[in-house]
Amino acid sequence: MSPERPRRSIATVCLSGTLEDKLAAASAAGFDGVEVFEPDLVAAPWSPAELAARCADLGLSIDLYQPFRDLDSTDPERAARNLRRLDRKLDVMAALGVDTVLVCSSVAPDAVDDADLLAEQLAAAAAHAAGRGARIAYEALAWGRHVSTWERSWDAVRRAGSPALGLCLDSFHVLSRGGDPAGFAEVPGEKLFFLQLADAPALRMDVLQWSRHHRLFPGQGAFDLPRFVECVLAAGYAGPLSLEVFNDVYRQADPARTAVDAVRSLQWLEEELALRCPQLGLPLPPAAPPLTGWSFTELAVDDVSGPQVGGVLAALGFAHTGRHRSKPVQLWEQGPHPASRARVLLNASADRSAAAGTASVAALGLESADPRRSAARAEAMSAPVLPRTRGAAEAELSAVAAPDGTEVFFTRTGPDGWPADFLPTGERPGPGAGITGIDHVGLTQPFDAFDEAGLFYRAVLGLEPQEVTELAAPFGLVRTRAVTGPDRAVRLALSVSALRRGGWAPGVPEPQYVALATDDLVATARALRAAGAPLLPVPANYADDLAARLDLPGDLLDAVREHGLMYEEDAHGGYLHLATDVLGDRVFLEVVQRLGGYDGYGTADAPVRMAAHRRRRQARTAGRG
Ligand code: MG
Repeated sequence: MSPERPRRSIATVCLSGTLEDKLAAASAAGFDGVEVFEPDLVAAPWSPAELAARCADLGLSIDLYQPFRDLDSTDPERAARNLRRLDRKLDVMAALGVDTVLVCSSVAPDAVDDADLLAEQLAAAAAHAAGRGARIAYEALAWGRHVSTWERSWDAVRRAGSPALGLCLDSFHVLSRGGDPAGFAEVPGEKLFFLQLADAPALRMDVLQWSRHHRLFPGQGAFDLPRFVECVLAAGYAGPLSLEVFNDVYRQADPARTAVDAVRSLQWLEEELALRCPQLGLPLPPAAPPLTGWSFTELAVDDVSGPQVGGVLAALGFAHTGRHRSKPVQLWEQGPHPASRARVLLNASADRSAAAGTASVAALGLESADPRRSAARAEAMSAPVLPRTRGAAEAELSAVAAPDGTEVFFTRTGPDGWPADFLPTGERPGPGAGITGIDHVGLTQPFDAFDEAGLFYRAVLGLEPQEVTELAAPFGLVRTRAVTGPDRAVRLALSVSALRRGGWAPGVPEPQYVALATDDLVATARALRAAGAPLLPVPANYADDLAARLDLPGDLLDAVREHGLMYEEDAHGGYLHLATDVLGDRVFLEVVQRLGGYDGYGTADAPVRMAAHRRRRQARTAGRG
């Protein structure tokens, strides 16, 4: 018998749009079922029976009706009225064909604090449900008036002793209050009626605001969801893994896209569970093969930006070594040995919606230990391999699209690999200016794609998201998060404006950069200056501040001043770096040297760099005018 995965469900409240939009998106992404969020039903044109038929047509079960609020009351009259309200909802549930209703702990002023009275009222409600063949899943809201912990909700369910009353465990409510899922072991499996999953970033704030604005899909935040679910399954839960995520972005983003992001979060979570709990016999997707380095970075260019970027690559010591057999793509290389060589492709054929004269990062070539398995892995993580047109005698290359549209290629660079697609120009790669490879690529994410991107690189490529940091940049707060392989052979620095930009946007719009590695930045900088590379000037104030903060050797400080270098440190080492001017309105190049075990991306220096880029843009604009 082949192992079975848990059923995948999603609350309709996770998705933007009307109920029609939400169901279509959930079905297309491959969910098995939905939780029907009552306000979505109330606003829908369908009767409950028609909704049930629509879900059946789409291959979706209805797994939960939610939420029923403020059931218990210290006012006997109101308690009786709440039971009558419950009866009406049980009618709706019967027409929907769903047998479980979520009752969340009351937040009302008349909520019951007395444990016995609460149990008595829950038991009465469960009796109403049982009479209709239904059952109640009781959930402790983290901000419930008297019941705000799962332990308290379990105490009420246990006291009530009703077979039609069980628990709904919601990872956000438990983990946001520091609850320990190990305690679920004391709950009999048949009392675990439902499981709702949400991740969240590590924030210190009011739990209601945290829940309402910042929930994330599993694998996007800071909660240990694999352990949480492991504890729930170990206690005997056998229902669906259901997502319940409220988030300012997902509330307004394209639901079709959100649903794919959501299903990927469960695909990732299921793999984590399969690895942690082999006894469960869960199916495993193809493992992500190790990514051993960069084969290339591809920039989309046009007639204006192509020659500009090519000229700067030449000044940086690159040689134009190849011309693609069938497309207007140039190969530029630097480094004497194929194993430590930086490669940049300039592609003038990419589909372009960008303004004339723009250059942008179009594709990343990553060396995979097994490109075919990388592609199979991507398919298993809801990232379909992109269709490609390929000429005769051209290498087979699989690529997937990252959330920001960047294509990610899985390559093996060898004599028979993708470089064979390029006809030699006669130029040979040499030592150039001492650049030995690509250290990392920095990509500004579209506002809506930041969390999605972290999960994409984690689930599809097997890269690990690092800590989220925020920096106060000259034109607004910027949030950054790197994703890296375990050995750091591949690093990506993702960033996003913490708020949407308004009309005043003086900085480089959605900047991208390619950070090139050198073993001796001072020597490289000297060579670049001699070759006339357009290096970004750094204010003298920067070097003065550096000298005040750190006890740096005099010759290093001299080099910082002389060449406009930047330097920062973390707990493991130091980082020397420089940047070029912006090329084609969006992209710039960095040259970086890691000292010791430095593991960052020069983020602390980014505001200085941004201000300098702004100054250069102003100078250029003034020159044009
Ligand atoms: Mg919930």
